[in-house]
Amino acid sequence: MRRAGLEGPALVPTMGALHEGHLSLIRAAHRTGNPVVVSIFVNPTQFGPSEDYVRYPKNLDRDVALATTAGADFIFHPDVAEIYPRPSTTITVPEATELYEGRVRPHHFQGVATVVCKLFQIVRPRLAFFGLKDLQQCAVIRRMVEDLDIDVELRFEPIVREPDGLAMSSRNVYLSPSDRLKAPLIHERLIEGKSRLLAGESMETVLEQARDSLGHAGFIVDYYDLIDTTTFKPTRQLDVNSALIVAAKLGNTRLIDNLLLFDGSNMP
Ligand code: AMP
Repeated sequence: MRRAGLEGPALVPTMGALHEGHLSLIRAAHRTGNPVVVSIFVNPTQFGPSEDYVRYPKNLDRDVALATTAGADFIFHPDVAEIYPRPSTTITVPEATELYEGRVRPHHFQGVATVVCKLFQIVRPRLAFFGLKDLQQCAVIRRMVEDLDIDVELRFEPIVREPDGLAMSSRNVYLSPSDRLKAPLIHERLIEGKSRLLAGESMETVLEQARDSLGHAGFIVDYYDLIDTTTFKPTRQLDVNSALIVAAKLGNTRLIDNLLLFDGSNMP
């Protein structure tokens, strides 16, 4: 059962260092006509011990100006102590977190689910906007909202890319100039993989060659796989739930990307 009507804010959770990907979510939230709350919170509990929490890019004044221009009515920028005054109760989403990002980054999705749930409780949004760039995160949040009967409507928005195809990310600034030139190969291998799969080529061959090709170009590939977006498990079916997903490192920078196999595909 849902609350009647569309009253209540539209929430766009972010970790700041805003770029066009974030701004597209804020604009989409603004178009609903609901008041828009943008949260800017670098959530320590979703970073692993060897990850970039301390050096995560921060520029609050710039973020506030960009978010406001894109249509934010309120900025919520809490301190860590405000969100986590003591060791927190946590939310563990099963199944959708077992593989891929969940496997490479243990505890990451527990941190994400917990902070998103807390943001929902604090802001009480009617709608919440997330980017398909983080496809597994979308699946995890969908699952949490359904399992815990959270009364919020989820909207998942398309990936915004640089002109050369690289998915925008706050972490792209870490890429060295030569790695930045190589980085769009990730998207190229997704497009190529999709068209070869749709042309009926052997799935294992397509997946293996994409991994090899990225490896030869200097990427350390964590995964390149065909998955079902609802379960976030591997699939060998081509249908409206299938997506190609990839995560690979260039130098110290980890890039993730994905491609839904069909226009009008089901989303998580
Ligand atoms: P982050 O600040 O990285 O936590 O991202 C905040 C929100 O922006 C998440 O829902 C992301 O999926 C979304 N986002 C990040 N990059 C992009 C992008 N290139 N296109 C669309 N959404 C994005």
